[in-house]
Formats: sequence, C-alpha cells, structure tokens
Amino acid sequence: MQSRRPVVLITGGSRGIGAAVAQLAAARGYDVAITYRSERESAERVLAACRTSGAAAVACQGDVAMEADVVRMFDEAQSALGPISHVVNNAGITGKSSRLEQADSDAVRACIEVNVLGAIWVAREAARRLSTSRGGPGGAIVNISSVAASLGSPNEYVWYAASKGAVDSLTIGMAKELASEGIRVNAVSPGMTMTDIHERSTQDAGRVERIRPHIPMNRIGEPEEIAEAVLFLISDAASYIAGANLSVSGGR
Ligand code: NDP
Repeated sequence: MQSRRPVVLITGGSRGIGAAVAQLAAARGYDVAITYRSERESAERVLAACRTSGAAAVACQGDVAMEADVVRMFDEAQSALGPISHVVNNAGITGKSSRLEQADSDAVRACIEVNVLGAIWVAREAARRLSTSRGGPGGAIVNISSVAASLGSPNEYVWYAASKGAVDSLTIGMAKELASEGIRVNAVSPGMTMTDIHERSTQDAGRVERIRPHIPMNRIGEPEEIAEAVLFLISDAASYIAGANLSVSGGR
C-alpha cells in the first residue's frame, strides 16, 4: 500500500513567500493546505501548481486574527487531507510605512492582530493538533519572522518590527514547550523579499533601490529562496534543530 504523504498547512499561502513554500512542499512530497484571507483566485493558482507535482492540495479561507477562523481552517484542512504534521505560520502584514509619530492607529492595530495574535492562534491550534500526548502525530512548525525584529525598521515600520520580535519570543517558548510533544519549532527570518507586501504597504517606488546597498549580497531575495530554508527546517534533515532562527537575508 502507498504510504501517506505528510500534510503541511501554510497560512497566507495564496501569494508571496507562502505560495513559494506551498509549491516547494508539494514538489518535495507533502500534501498541502494553504490558507488565504481574500484572494481566492491567487489561492486557486497555487493549488493548481501544487497538484502538478502530484500533491493533494486544498485552500481554506479565513482570517488568522480570528480564533474561530483558525480552528475552522485546521478542521477543513484535516478533513480533506488527514492529520496535519507540519505548519508554516506565515500570514503577515506591515501596514503603510511611516515614522512612528504618523503611524495610523488602525494600521498598527491590524498589524499586531495579524502578526502577533494571528501567529499565536495558529501556534496554539498547531500545538493542539500535533502534540503526541494528545494523540497527534508530532511534527514541525516554522514561524516566519523578519530581520526587521533585530533591525527595528526605523522611520518605516517600527510596530511591524515589534510584532516580529514577538514572533521570535513565541518561537523560543514554543520550541522549549513542545519539544517533549514531538514537535520541533523554528523560525525563518527573511530579509527583503520580492513579494506584493512591498507594493501594498508603501507608495514609495524607490524603497527597494534604497535598501539594496545595505544588503551585503546587493540584491533582494526571491520567495523561492525563503521557501528552501523553510523546507529544510520542517524536513527530517533538521531532526535535531529546535528553537533556531535562520536569517535568509543576503547577509543583512
Ligand atoms: P504577501 O503580502 O505577498 O502575502 C501575504 C499572504 O498572507 C497572502 O496569502 C494573504 O492572503 C495572507 N494574509 C494576510 N493577512 C491575512 C490574515 N489576516 N489572515 C489570513 N491570511 C492573511 O506577503 P509576503 O509573502 O511578503 O510575507 C509573508 C510573511 O513573510 C509575512 O509574515 C511577512 O511579514 C514575512 N516577511 C516578508 C518579507 C518580505 O520582504 N516580503 C521580509 C520579512 C518577513 P490574501 O492574499 O488573501 O490577502
């Protein structure tokens, strides 16, 4: 009998880094559940690409900042694909860039709700489903942080940097708490990566060119390069790695 493929759930898998992770995971032998908030068409394109690799793939709509949505998305993914063993906690937003004095209250609140509360709700649900003491399969979780957590993003996104600092703390705590449950938890911290997040968050077309000289490798990252790091950390090749935070930032 053919053995079952492991199942990975990727939040925010309809675009950008999450979409690249989904497609690489499908190519590496995982069945894939992606979540998205609003763009069904993008999600369908990712599913089609995953299926060309022979993966079973489903998309679940919901807002990671809403606890009930998170539970429902895990339920939907699990009933379509079977037990989830790997989770990539990726959905995130920045809000429009500005200095702190001009920061828009609603944008800051949304950023914290998605990047911090959303990451915690997803982490909690993953812990509930994967923990071996609760009958789960064990597995691995990768939280997507950012180099912003250590750089601080002055004059642009200090609230976003703070939200990713919280993700880093979450990763350390989860790694220690869940190791005995058969779950490895790590983080990947991308540097600037070519995705829609930049276009949607700023009207400043020159921003990429301004940041590029500060990147030792003198170029912006591609989503596929972040995906490689994520796939390594969830794979058995990383079987003794927990609580690590892998910077994928061209040396930044
Ligand atoms: P994109 O804007 O390209 O994609 C974001 C994804 O998250 C989309 O699938 C979107 O779904 C989903 N999403 C956004 N908000 C929610 C929500 N409330 N609930 C559920 N899904 C949501 O972002 P990136 O791929 O660039 O970023 C992915 C992660 O990487 C984020 O955590 C980001 O902070 C981090 N990161 C990105 C960097 C970069 O330079 N790109 C650098 C460092 C870190 P939909 O399309 O339906 O709205």
